[in-house]
Amino acid sequence: MKSAWNEREASDAVERYGAQGVASDLALRVYSTRLLGRDPKLVLHGGGNTSLKAMTRDVAGAAVEVLYVKGSGTDMGVIEPSGFPAVRLEPLRALRALETLGLDDMARVQRGFMIDPLAPAPSVEMLLHAFMPAKFVDHTHATAVLSLIDQPNGEALCTEVYDGRMGFVPYRMPGFGLAKLAAEVFDKSPKVEGLILDKHGLFTFGADARQAYERMIEMVTLAEQRLQKNRSSFASAKLPDRLASVAEVAPILRGACTLHDADGEGAHRRPILEFRTSAAILTFVNGKDVARYARAGVITPDHVIRTKPWPLIVPAPEAGKLAEFKTATWAAAQKFAEDYAAYFERNKSRAPQAVMHDPAPRVVLVPGLGLFGLGESARGAKIAADIAEATVEGITDAEAIGRFVSIPEGDIFDCEFWALELAKLGARQLRPLAGQVAVITGGGGAIGAATAKAFAHAGAAVALLDLDLKAAQEKAATVGSGALALSCDVTDASSVAAAYRQVVATFGGVDILVSNAGAAWQGKIGEVDEATLRKSFELNFFAHQKMAQGAVKIMLEQNTGGCLLFNVSKQAVNPGPNFGPYGLPKAATLFLVRQYALDYGADGIRANAVNADRIRSGLLTADFIKERAKARGVSEKDYMSGNLLGREVTADDVAQAFLAQALALKTTADVTTVDGGNIAAALR
Ligand code: ZN
Repeated sequence: MKSAWNEREASDAVERYGAQGVASDLALRVYSTRLLGRDPKLVLHGGGNTSLKAMTRDVAGAAVEVLYVKGSGTDMGVIEPSGFPAVRLEPLRALRALETLGLDDMARVQRGFMIDPLAPAPSVEMLLHAFMPAKFVDHTHATAVLSLIDQPNGEALCTEVYDGRMGFVPYRMPGFGLAKLAAEVFDKSPKVEGLILDKHGLFTFGADARQAYERMIEMVTLAEQRLQKNRSSFASAKLPDRLASVAEVAPILRGACTLHDADGEGAHRRPILEFRTSAAILTFVNGKDVARYARAGVITPDHVIRTKPWPLIVPAPEAGKLAEFKTATWAAAQKFAEDYAAYFERNKSRAPQAVMHDPAPRVVLVPGLGLFGLGESARGAKIAADIAEATVEGITDAEAIGRFVSIPEGDIFDCEFWALELAKLGARQLRPLAGQVAVITGGGGAIGAATAKAFAHAGAAVALLDLDLKAAQEKAATVGSGALALSCDVTDASSVAAAYRQVVATFGGVDILVSNAGAAWQGKIGEVDEATLRKSFELNFFAHQKMAQGAVKIMLEQNTGGCLLFNVSKQAVNPGPNFGPYGLPKAATLFLVRQYALDYGADGIRANAVNADRIRSGLLTADFIKERAKARGVSEKDYMSGNLLGREVTADDVAQAFLAQALALKTTADVTTVDGGNIAAALR
């Protein structure tokens, strides 16, 4: 591992933060914390922490010695000075005299001595930082060091590698007990440059920011060098000659890992999936002994809140035998949930207040293919996948020089159900479409974009499809991070199939289709040429059918129901003069909605239509509106609001109707009008 310290960048940080009134020590604390935080081999997703001991002034202006320590759950890679709450050092040090400190008191101590009680809560490892005398203290969960200490003989290996330069602290759960034990180890050899925390990570000390940082890099490098000696590799299991694809496997896994609706309300809680593969991942998941080493526990305790204690392992998926794979996968997921409930039962007396988390896996290993991270959002799935990848590396290196061991099950449980660790995840209020994947056609247009925004806001992962990729990308950027933009010709079967493959590869499946793409053709029906009529049928009927067929195929693999929503114009029920070429296929599409509702209701798949009228969009261009208003002798404004309510209908109104239909779990074969009131087009 190479040092990323750069003197010029460091002095830039001092200058930049100095202009905001931040002292140079704190500026450098921020700088080196970011260096550590941006390397996934050192810390991942809120893991790790750093501190600085310095003087500051309290509200009354009195000088006071404080510990600046990273806020709990803050991402070190992008931390700012405000990410380091200042805590009075004197009362923290005094706590060392206590015999024990209960978990509730630990939470009070976390906040009790803050200079600014409104700042973020300090790290749960604050006391350990406070009990160490060094001015700068850095702490990471470096994967290479974990491979060294997640061993039955971790202490001996550390003695060999560090030769007394690092103290060795036996495993304790983070908190007061660990801080006190670490201080005792330090007191016995106060010349050490840092501490190894067995089965957890390492600390390094420095008189200045650079020294603590460079020591971290050096200690990790020494571990890396040791891992290169006397290596062996996993023996591979026998795999089928031909494997199924990720796009075939993902919907099956997703269905198996869904929290199926027990009360019959139809509200399945599905996960978003993120797939990863590489030579290292394949060597790991294909290993003959994968069930032993992959289920042996976490590489560092705080990972458990993101990944659960172990992954789900499924059989290798053989091409052409997906039915067998599905049966085996559902059985394995069921067993996982039972094992998880049993683990909770065995250990629950350790945390009497604890409520069991949902029993669905967060990581799935698929021999032959790779691994999946699972989450209730695309971001959650990415975090689980990142940690799973680090786990693969940590365990592979540990097994290469010895045997991977984690902390005992009870200790894992303590971390998984400790309130202060869970606080890192933040308040968890599930949004109504959390975990659902929505595919929206016509994503480059006004209605598609408004719908994508409404669905993403409700928690769905969204994919915007459009013939015009640039338009879809521009709209996706307004939806927020993680929205997928794809080029798709909805009238072309292979383009539709490719788009679905891409959506499934990105998010794991499909739950909602908003089939919205369309275009208006005009012509007096007795005179219009057949080519125009057929063209309109291709886009305004057959494309809806192609999209719906593709979605249903995936939904049936998932076995978790689904929702098909169609943009059906008011032309479908109330023809306008010369709009036959547009209205006829739309009328067929209205019937298509009912046919899907009828044929797939028993599978929990709902089909509904929105009957919108007079929305400013690519269909209803500014020129067209001008022309129409003129023909009727009214202003554009009066033309647009020429409905019972006398108000213009917007793309957002249509989006809200689609959202309402997506959320109405008992509504199928419905047509919702969004037209401000048009009695001639009223359905009944
Ligand atoms: Zn830690």
